Amino acid sequence: MDLNKVSETPSDSAEDVVSQFTGKVAHRIYWGAFLVTLPLTVIQALEGKWLMLAWLCAFLCYTAFTALRVKKMSKRRGRHIIFITLLCAAVMYSTLVNGIHGLLWAYPVMASIAFLLAWKLAIVVTVVFVTLLTAVSVYTIEPDVAWRALVSLLVLMILTLTLVRLLTRMQRHFTELAVTDTLTGVYNRKQLQTDLEHLVALKKRHGRPISAALCDIDYFKEVNDKYGHFDGDRLLIQAAQLIKSSFRASDKVFRVGGEEFVILMPDTDLEGATRAAEKLRATFSANHFELKEDPVNMTISIGVSELESEENWLAWLERADKLLYHAKDMGRNQVRNTVQEIT
Ligand code: GH3
Ligand code: MG
Ligand code: MG
Repeated sequence: MDLNKVSETPSDSAEDVVSQFTGKVAHRIYWGAFLVTLPLTVIQALEGKWLMLAWLCAFLCYTAFTALRVKKMSKRRGRHIIFITLLCAAVMYSTLVNGIHGLLWAYPVMASIAFLLAWKLAIVVTVVFVTLLTAVSVYTIEPDVAWRALVSLLVLMILTLTLVRLLTRMQRHFTELAVTDTLTGVYNRKQLQTDLEHLVALKKRHGRPISAALCDIDYFKEVNDKYGHFDGDRLLIQAAQLIKSSFRASDKVFRVGGEEFVILMPDTDLEGATRAAEKLRATFSANHFELKEDPVNMTISIGVSELESEENWLAWLERADKLLYHAKDMGRNQVRNTVQEIT
């Protein structure tokens, strides 16, 4: 395995990238709300509406304070709920005092609900908000205007929530694509680095055993030469599925090169990982891989290493890599967890 291709610098996982993006969106909504509210606050002061002025000043302080302090806004759902509650209360009070002019602010507030809150929570908050707003509007707005405003508000909300839902699904799909090996469907090299960093941090925190197995199919070049590249690909897909099914659901399989795979096994010591690797080796060599013409037999060599305390992931994988080459030197179709001198 070419370990140089795995960077030593910390990597952003696909989820990190999405989280940073949603965090930025939230950050901008907060600053947008601040900038829109600022002139309104001045107007309240000029008009001498002291209660509304006090309310808007408190809102401005809270929004600026939160936006300045919290960088990863997407992870602060609690803060978003407070922010949304303040916005909704401001719109209801404004509708009570200013009638339709206040109700107009419900539109951007609705958009903020859809973008900041989780989907189900957004629906609940919308229903409660529109119900309360209807109750307030009955007293302050002509019924003819009020029902039109409220229905158009609901339509806008349904459209916005549908759009946000579609975007969330699309984002989940792209996140999955970004971490998946396109040929075999197991995790790719990029995700390996994310998981290695995560497991090294976990080891430092909990000290529980974590092991890795590095596998390489034996003489795969000959298989390719005999059956051609496309059939070689079909065999690789079957090999990946066999490797995946041979390990626990909590273990993760990655394709890291042409016919090389890494398996990360949390909560597994060297002895347990070697047993799991031996089970794979035996299943692999006994399996008849299917091609159109005849069944194909292949073998696999495996190096196994357990992460030591204070060790970085590069040193951990390098040991597995050396043991894999040792397995090749010893004649292939075997599992190695220590170097055995040839006598
Ligand atoms: P060894 O037992 O020493 O591992 O021998 P090997 O022939 O498997 O090893 P080597 O690394 O020399 O060759 C790996 C071969 O895997 C080279 C190439 O033909 C094949 N290969 C690499 N990537 C792909 C791929 O994506 N699809 C297919 N079909 N073959 C690939
Ligand atoms: Mg190889
Ligand atoms: Mg090989």
